[in-house]
Amino acid sequence: MTPNTDSTTLHALFAAQHQASRAQIEVPLTLRRDRLLRMRTLINENGSALAQAVQADFGVRSPQLTEIADLFVLRTLMSHTLKSLARWMKPVKVSTPLYLQPAHAYLQRQPLGVVGVVSPWNYPVQLALGPVITALAAGNRVMLKPSELTPETSALMASLIEKAFAPDELCVVQGDGALAAEFSGLPFDHLFFTGSTAVGRIVARAAAANLTPTTLELGGKSPCIVDASCDLEAAAIKIAHGKLLNAGQTCIAPDYVMVPKGQEAAFGDAFARAVHTLFPAIEGNADYAAIISPRHHARLQAMLAAAEGEGARVQVIGRPAGAPAVSRQMPPALVFGAAAGSKLLDEEIFGPILPVLPYDSLDEAIAYINARPRPLALYWFGTDTHARDAVLARTVSGGVTINDTLMHIAHENLPFGGVGDSGWGSYHGEAGFLRLTQQKPVLVQSKWARGDLFYPPYGKRFDQVMGLLKRWL
Ligand code: NAD
Repeated sequence: MTPNTDSTTLHALFAAQHQASRAQIEVPLTLRRDRLLRMRTLINENGSALAQAVQADFGVRSPQLTEIADLFVLRTLMSHTLKSLARWMKPVKVSTPLYLQPAHAYLQRQPLGVVGVVSPWNYPVQLALGPVITALAAGNRVMLKPSELTPETSALMASLIEKAFAPDELCVVQGDGALAAEFSGLPFDHLFFTGSTAVGRIVARAAAANLTPTTLELGGKSPCIVDASCDLEAAAIKIAHGKLLNAGQTCIAPDYVMVPKGQEAAFGDAFARAVHTLFPAIEGNADYAAIISPRHHARLQAMLAAAEGEGARVQVIGRPAGAPAVSRQMPPALVFGAAAGSKLLDEEIFGPILPVLPYDSLDEAIAYINARPRPLALYWFGTDTHARDAVLARTVSGGVTINDTLMHIAHENLPFGGVGDSGWGSYHGEAGFLRLTQQKPVLVQSKWARGDLFYPPYGKRFDQVMGLLKRWL
């Protein structure tokens, strides 16, 4: 385990970044591009070393999964950012209302200053470096605190960043929750947190003490609705892929699936076939990720046992019934008839367990979702466009993919983020750039301006002008 960065170093790094950010407020395109290109080289030259580190941290986590879910996502973000940055940085002219003309006005896009980034373990490279790339593009200085649960990956990112960046440009501090709490108490210009809703609340409180604005990319229970109009076989493989990527340790994985009453067994069979197609074996299969730690594995096993104890039927896929768990490669499990109020239906699962919830009518399915905290993602499968549009119109979630899972996260022109308990603020593409940019409104007055019409002493002329304006507005 890497020891915590000590408090003196933490504060010294922040002070250096803060000082540098105030000494150089204007961060030109060439410098931003230079920082991004250094980061691109770091990723390109060390992709396989990073994937090996992630593999070592998980025990089993295929380099191909890190390639697609961490590195590819970063490459698309980087390429889109490099192509768009010059345009994003330009001042944006806005139209000026008649009563202020002939003044003109625009938004000047400036760096915020120092951005803190706290990241989780599940996609430890993407979720650390994605916000870092976004913050650098916006001209900020950045301090990163990656997860202590992926120590090899965090240490490798720290040493690579140390070689490529000055500490007052970008630096990494390492440590556990205690260090993270101290980190969140620094008076950043923005704090970008990705992690659980519970820790997100603590981070929001710590940041509020400094009036530091936050972006909170949190978790929650993302529903997946299977409509009666859906091709069950085609949907099942997409749901299985979204659920079992990284063994369910994905913030936007479908947490539970809602199927029309009477189709539970058919869905269960289709899902089991899909799992066998994707993962002919579970234990010993290098493509199927392990649960990150014994503690997380025990939590998931306990959730499953509790659901069974409360009368649910559990269908484990990929291991003979009754066989004991031999590793942290936890086989997928469908749960039918989970009790209302059970942990499985109330807490984010974050593992390969999928409760199947039957519904009688679309209204009932929508009401179930709306009675719970707003989800990070929502999935809908089917061909009935009226039903689809009703779900879209009558539910609120961080994002949606129709007839697939996860894919909205990969679209750079779709802002990615949560709503309510699943977080606030979004990033990716221009949305991320703007999140970490001060859009400073500037009004340039004209020498022909007649603002004096509104000056005191108020009298007849004032009343006439106001009267005209009232009619015009
Ligand atoms: P976590 O909240 O336990 O930890 C995330 C980070 O917070 C870690 O770096 C940790 O050291 C730090 N931390 C711990 N205690 C802290 C404190 N008191 N103050 C400040 N920081 C503290 O989350 P996790 O277990 O690493 O990740 C899983 C969770 O993250 C899931 O809930 C998942 O849904 C969510 N997640 C969300 C997204 C998203 O983009 N919305 C992406 C990935 C994961």
